[in-house]
Amino acid sequence: MFLQGKRALVTGSTSGIGLAIARALRAEGAELILNGFGDADEIAALCAELNASHSAANLLDVAEIETMMAEAGAIDILVNNAGMQHVSPVEDFPIGKWNAIIGLNLTAAFHTTRLAVPGMKARGWGRIINTASAHSKTASPFKSAYNASKHGVDGFTKTIALELGQTGVTANCISPGYVWTPLIEGQIPDTMKARGLTREQVINDVLLAKQPTKKFVQPGEVGALAAFLCREEAGNVTGANWSIDGGWTAE
Ligand code: NAD
Repeated sequence: MFLQGKRALVTGSTSGIGLAIARALRAEGAELILNGFGDADEIAALCAELNASHSAANLLDVAEIETMMAEAGAIDILVNNAGMQHVSPVEDFPIGKWNAIIGLNLTAAFHTTRLAVPGMKARGWGRIINTASAHSKTASPFKSAYNASKHGVDGFTKTIALELGQTGVTANCISPGYVWTPLIEGQIPDTMKARGLTREQVINDVLLAKQPTKKFVQPGEVGALAAFLCREEAGNVTGANWSIDGGWTAE
């Protein structure tokens, strides 16, 4: 239980990868603040299960982020994980979707980080973990906003790692390949439309075709990597972009 006495805020942790990261940090004793949308009863049940509090802040709203961070108090571990996707050819890409994807996937991480860093520096310890993506290292067509946002997360993470080098605070990206979550489920119909494929073809010929293992990454595997990055032994691991993508980006 190496995270006893540490407080962790995981954005977008009412679902998918964020929830798995929250569970992994809780298993090591961290005190959790969850964030994200969802059914009120389900969120209450998660809070009870994980002995966590919850912020419903919409991370597209800077004022709501500022309130969440002020109410959260001292944060030792910040996981910027909330994210969204939209699949469309660039010439048809809805402007509102572009702005929301850049806003949630990239700009929100800037705001939470700028607000968390002073306390981490003052305490001489911190972990910033940003859920990027294989799409922070490579691209796929029809995901212009997502790929731009995730490449941005990679650059942002490296920058803060350099700035925080001597402070005891590390900053790293985790870059999953395809993990079966509502985010992936939600992009299948648009990918079918954009590429003229069936659902099975999208799963086997588009998604799993990228991953030499031919398996979806499991959310718990991403959680385990996040927990490792919080260990004392990971104190020299900073500015890195950790692939967990079944070999996708080895090509
Ligand atoms: P998900 O849809 O299961 O979860 C997204 C979470 O973000 C939810 O908790 C949701 O409530 C929250 N959220 C959405 N909009 C929000 C907003 N405006 N303010 C606050 N919270 C908001 O998705 P997921 O697949 O678990 O994705 C989590 C992260 O992992 C994202 O950054 C995503 O880009 C990244 N990722 C996912 C995959 C994958 O295959 N699923 C692969 C690589 C990277």
